[in-house]
Formats: sequence, structure tokens, C-alpha cells
Amino acid sequence: MSDARPRSEALFAEAKQRLVGGVNSPVRAFGAVGGTPVFIERARGPRLWDVDGNAYLDYVGSWGPMILGHAHPAVVRAAQRAVELGSSFGAPTAAEVTLAQLVREAFPTAERVRFTSSGTEACLTALRLARGVTGRPLIVKFAGCYHGHGDSLLVSAGSGALTTGRPNSAGVPAELARLTLVLPYNDPDALAAAFAKHGKKIAAVIVEPVVGNMGVVGPRPDFLDALERLPRRHGALLILDEVMTGFRLSWGGAQRLLALRADLTTFGKIIGGGFPVGGLGGPRRLMDQLAPLGPVYQAGTLSGNPVAMAAGAATLGLLKKDPPYKFLRDTTDHLVHGLRAVARRRRREVTVNAVESMFTVFFAKGPVTDLKSAQRANAKLYARFFHGLLRRGVYFPPSQFEAAFLSAAHTPADIEKTVAAADAAFRDL
Ligand code: PMP
Repeated sequence: MSDARPRSEALFAEAKQRLVGGVNSPVRAFGAVGGTPVFIERARGPRLWDVDGNAYLDYVGSWGPMILGHAHPAVVRAAQRAVELGSSFGAPTAAEVTLAQLVREAFPTAERVRFTSSGTEACLTALRLARGVTGRPLIVKFAGCYHGHGDSLLVSAGSGALTTGRPNSAGVPAELARLTLVLPYNDPDALAAAFAKHGKKIAAVIVEPVVGNMGVVGPRPDFLDALERLPRRHGALLILDEVMTGFRLSWGGAQRLLALRADLTTFGKIIGGGFPVGGLGGPRRLMDQLAPLGPVYQAGTLSGNPVAMAAGAATLGLLKKDPPYKFLRDTTDHLVHGLRAVARRRRREVTVNAVESMFTVFFAKGPVTDLKSAQRANAKLYARFFHGLLRRGVYFPPSQFEAAFLSAAHTPADIEKTVAAADAAFRDL
């Protein structure tokens, strides 16, 4: 049991004097689960160590990037080599070309790529580009999906926006929010109705093809079918936000897994190997509308940063050479079956959603298919479950409405240990 965290306590008290809420991203503050955030000192493979010397099996993985596990030696070496050559030039490098080539191999529609420093920027750029090429103002998004914290996208947003209970951020002008149409996920009729009413004004539909940001929710076949058909029929673009799912659900992301065709794809997380990154990819005819070739402006001082590009290329290179996807699926299956079994044994009503190596334990009865059903989950029970796991050395997402992630470094023994911890945590609820 790792319950004593005096150094984390002291650091958090100090952090709150200097950083807003003690953190640089809201969900890290443990607001949704209570208690003191764990300050991390180092990580390796599937494990984190906190500043008090406690070890945890990590199911957050930096919210997705660490698919190979932490501090993978080949990724560390690539980043070290890059940083020794200079950490940023503000000029083109070979590493950007290498990473763009790897992205193109995995995502055939990404004929041209633009790298950014975050997924937020990638999604913002995708919207601007869609509006620029179509000349239309409206964006369709789905309740509970999160596409970063751009103004137009912080409307009924998931992730930390749900955690803090404010899916609509203050500071977003109503005039701008009105240009975002929010529809329920997995509802093809709502999408059809929106196009019937506003078809000629919709620039793009942006969607997490498999949602991670209200917890894991997969798409129904009729919803996928509507996504594939309706935007195209009405001259709007389909933007698949694969910031989380790209190179996570398969080498070719969710779109390969689901056979879904994107007009534009946004990237982040895994493609930077744990360094700040984002990306936007699409066919030449669309992407060439971006500056410097076209009229849609976008830029970034640290965009295509050589260290991030090198770590990303090392990560994608390993995923290509030795694909971990079957292992990840099997390991996740093993864990999910174990979690369901111990929940049953302890008479806890949970719904475990999983897609490949992403999963969520919802404290809810019945299927979770959209934001409404996700919000039926008992977040208070989840919080107690979370702390029960944490005490036993298992680090789950500190919110009911976030995805958990496995890495290729999680072993069957780690899974057994996690299931045993969950058994005890369910028992103690
Ligand atoms: N889109 C999705 C699907 C995401 O999960 C995230 C981040 N969790 C983002 C966009 C934003 O990426 P970033 O945090 O790098 O800005």
C-alpha cells in the first residue's frame, strides 16, 4: 500500500502559490476525485514513481502518447541525439520530412502534413482550413468530444471541461459559440436533421471517431455510415480527430480500423513520442490552401521541433517495425475481462467500454453510448475506486470521464496485479 505522500502534499501546497490551481492542465489537480495530486519524479516502462518513492502501474500514459511505455531506450536515444545537435532552429530539418513520410505511410489521405506543437493547434487549423476552403461558417461537433481548447471547440466539450463541470467555457463569445452546432454522438438522425436544416452553411463535421474524452465510447455502424455520407453529400469536410486514436488503435488509427474516409485528420500525442506535438494531414488540394502556398494562415515558432520530430519518428518507426497492436488488444482484453469479473464478484454495477488499448470503467448500469449515458455514471463511486487503486499502486485516470491506456510495456503479471488491486478496491467501496 502506498498511502504516504508527504512530499507530494508539500509540493502541491507550494505549487498552488505559484501555478493556477497548482497545475498546468486542469485534470491533473484531482478536482474530480479529491485528494492531493501525485507529483511524479520518473517513469520507466509501465511504471511511474512519485516524489515520495511510491511506484504505480500507469494507465494514463501521459494521456495516450506513451504507447511503447515510458522512457523507451530507442526513443530516449533519438531525443538525446537530436537535442545534442541543437533543440530548435526555426528553420526546416530532415526530421520533419521523415516524420511526415511515416504519417503518410500510415494515413494514405495525408498527402501533405503540417506539424504544430499541440493537438489543440492542429484542430484549430483544421477548422480554419475547412472554413477557408468551403467559405462556410458553421462547424458540427458532438457533445462530449474534446478537440482541444480552441474557442469554437469548447462548446459541450469533453475531458477536463467535463471534469470541472463546465463543458461551455466562460470567455467564448456567444456569437462564436453559435457557429458550432452540437449534436449527440452516435445519433445519425440528428446529423441528418442538422444537414437538412443548415447543409449549405456547414464547413465541417469534426469528430473523435472513437471517443476517449467522455470516457471511451465507440461509434455505432449507422453513425459511421452517416459520417461517411452526409458531410460529403452537402459539400462539407469530415475532420477525423485522431489526436488520441492515431497510431493508438492501429498503425492507421481509427480510420483504418473502421474503414472511414477522412477529408482532414488531426494528430498529436503518439506522433511526438512524449514531446509537445500536433499535426494536420489531408489531400494536397486542401492542404495547399495553407500558408505559405494558400490564403489560410497558420504558423508556429516551435512547430516541427527537431527533438519532438526525432522522438516521434523513433516511436512510429518501432510501431511500424514491430507492431504491438495485437499484443495490446489481447492484454487489454485480459484486463477488461478481469475487471468485469471482480466487479461482478463484489456486486458492483459497472460498464467497461474498451476499444483496442483504450478503456473506461463506468460506474453505470447499461450501455454507455453517448454523453447522456456517460453522465449517468456515478462519479463519486469512481473517485473512491480511483483512490482504492492508487493506494494499491495503480494509477488510473483521475476522472470518470477520461480514457485509460495500456502500453506495450504492460505485462500479463502487471495485469494480474491490477485486477487484484481492483478486486480489493471494489470490495472496499
Ligand atoms: N483532440 C483530442 C481527441 C484529444 O484527446 C486532445 C487532448 N487530449 C486534443 C485534441 C488536444 O490536444 P492537446 O492537449 O495536445 O492540445
